Amino acid sequence: MKLLESYAQGEWFAGLESPIILNSAITGESVAQIKNGSIDASGMLNYARTEGGHALRKLTFHQRAIKLKEMALFLLQHKKEFYALSAHTGATYIDSWIDIEGGIQTLFSYSGTGRRELPNAKFIVDGASEVLSKNATFVGQHIRTPLEGVAMHINAFNFPCWGMLEKLAVSLLSGVPSIIKPASCTAYVAEAMFRRMIESGIFPEGSLQLISGDVGDIFEYFDYQDVVTFTGSAKVGQMLKNKPTIQSRSVRFIMEADSLNCSVLGVDAVPGSPEFELYVKQIVTEISTKCGQRCTGIRRAIVPENLLEPVTSALHIELNKLIIGDPANRSVTMGALVSQQQRNDVRSSVEKLRQDAEVVYGDPQYCEALDADGERGAFMSPIVLSCERPFASQVVHNVEAFGPVSTLMPYSNIDEMLELARLGRGSLVASVVTHDADFAREAVVGLAPHHGRILLLDRDCAEDSTGHGSPLPRLVHGGPGRAGGGEEMGGIRGVGHYLQTTALQGSPNQLSAVTNQWILGANREEDGIHPFRKTFEELVIGNSYISDLKEIKLDDIEHFAEFTGDKFYAHMDEEAAKANPFFEGRVAHGYYIVSLAAGLFVEPNPGPVLANYGVDNLRFLQPVYVGDSLRVALSCKQKTDRINEVYGEVRWDAEVSNQNDEVVAHYDVLTLVANGQG
Ligand code: NAP
Repeated sequence: MKLLESYAQGEWFAGLESPIILNSAITGESVAQIKNGSIDASGMLNYARTEGGHALRKLTFHQRAIKLKEMALFLLQHKKEFYALSAHTGATYIDSWIDIEGGIQTLFSYSGTGRRELPNAKFIVDGASEVLSKNATFVGQHIRTPLEGVAMHINAFNFPCWGMLEKLAVSLLSGVPSIIKPASCTAYVAEAMFRRMIESGIFPEGSLQLISGDVGDIFEYFDYQDVVTFTGSAKVGQMLKNKPTIQSRSVRFIMEADSLNCSVLGVDAVPGSPEFELYVKQIVTEISTKCGQRCTGIRRAIVPENLLEPVTSALHIELNKLIIGDPANRSVTMGALVSQQQRNDVRSSVEKLRQDAEVVYGDPQYCEALDADGERGAFMSPIVLSCERPFASQVVHNVEAFGPVSTLMPYSNIDEMLELARLGRGSLVASVVTHDADFAREAVVGLAPHHGRILLLDRDCAEDSTGHGSPLPRLVHGGPGRAGGGEEMGGIRGVGHYLQTTALQGSPNQLSAVTNQWILGANREEDGIHPFRKTFEELVIGNSYISDLKEIKLDDIEHFAEFTGDKFYAHMDEEAAKANPFFEGRVAHGYYIVSLAAGLFVEPNPGPVLANYGVDNLRFLQPVYVGDSLRVALSCKQKTDRINEVYGEVRWDAEVSNQNDEVVAHYDVLTLVANGQG
């Protein structure tokens, strides 16, 4: 039987206390053991802060993003081993796929997001600069730098791989060393995957440590540069969040707790409609996936009162089709709960729910299992309850049965439906199954303040929908109130949890030099060489080209209108243009100004500039009339080196001004520029 180990300060070791035996959810036989004790918590934190933190912060966001992809590819090579272990947790193949490959997918996703949306730099220049004085010699600019502490990730038992990887993807990309504490009862899966991560040597030593068993006195040593992320029950989460050091040292604490998520059936979704069928199928999916052990599972199914009976009958038919048993038999569609202990907890939660709701499907005390002993394994029948008077009940909105359990409850109008949803006091997710856009809009407005995610499910998106229960790397996972008030993932948003935002103030030249980004008001450097003749390496931030003035003629406006077909009256009809509140007569097309500016700044010969791939932040600030003359100032604003490519990205500031030096258009031009090897 495998003894699980911790990995701290570069070494593997086991705890010293008497072993806790971890049993297979399918057979009840022991799979692994774990021992508490012997953690040098303070040493682990210091090691992470010094060894891991320093090494990670030497890398850029892009370098770390590439490592995430390498890690994902490495783990995929070993996935069979993880599937074998995951089977002991009671998971079906699909459940394990969500956990293992879904988790690895998070690494891929953050690798891509990191390279697309973050700079290839060690800190982020956040947003545009702010002019703080009349003559623009004093400006502000926000920057975001990685924290110098540790990310401590405490995970729930239900997704030992995904739970670990969705957190690591973000903290490692951010440059913050991480300590993983998996939930004990499935730690044998997390430990195996973690071992592979260490073996890969992809991330620098000190970036990753693991605690198998309890965390000792680690909460004594957290400090303000650290981040604790917790996924688990609200009870444990609140207890940890209220630890004195977390409070007194302002340690960031991100909590993802349990919630009484709801799924609403729209009044339009009557039997026979695609939405009715989708609703019933969705509840069955949420009950059976991972044997209902999902924080996002549907605990409350809120249905129009006249549809309560048809939904109950349809659920009977669909739930009867489930095959519960040992997932080694591929015909099995629902596995077991993770442990006998977990089944006892779920049974006792069902007993509480029965105070106010009646069991209309399943037997909480008995379950037959294919190829397995239903009692020795932690099998449980799906349970559907029905609560006829949900406003009179506390328990149905409060008790989370973390298993294959949902409670149906009726509503008579949309206000009642929203009121019922709110009684959950904050959830991770709600779904609304309707094809009626008015109902959907009203539901969203009422539900959104209480939920971190809302799925609107109808016939148009059903085939591609990722479903009620699946958090996605590019979308926020988390919810208010009972759900913990935390946020995870959400694409690049999640990175912000591990960064400090700082407002810099100073002169444009000083801030340009510090941020390595040209800031409005900084010097435009003209050295006689057109910047389009310079390779990526040769270009220096602030390198500029300032064109001569060019006059706008009526013929040019008419030619542009004829050529493009854009004959909007403000360009074509003097009287109509004058009647417009913004213009004194016919004006040049905005797109003509941009095209003309390109004609003014472009150096036409083949050279290092390979392509223009867009413009950002385009604004037309003043009308341009016949007889005005325009010039453009183009300055190298930002360079983003592309690792493993023969080019880099160059962002240029383009400012178009008239003969009176009034800015008429302002935007960023985005180009790909060959490097010396290109
Ligand atoms: P749990 O009992 O609250 O445990 C969660 C984690 O906290 C485990 O790693 C546990 O380790 C650890 N822990 C417990 N006491 C601790 C202490 N004193 N100091 C430090 N760590 C401590 O939850 P669970 O039973 O694993 O998971 C089920 C619950 O998690 C459900 O309520 C579910 O809704 C919720 N959940 C929420 C999300 C979400 O994203 N919001 C996701 C999944 C699950 P040990 O196992 O070693 O005790």
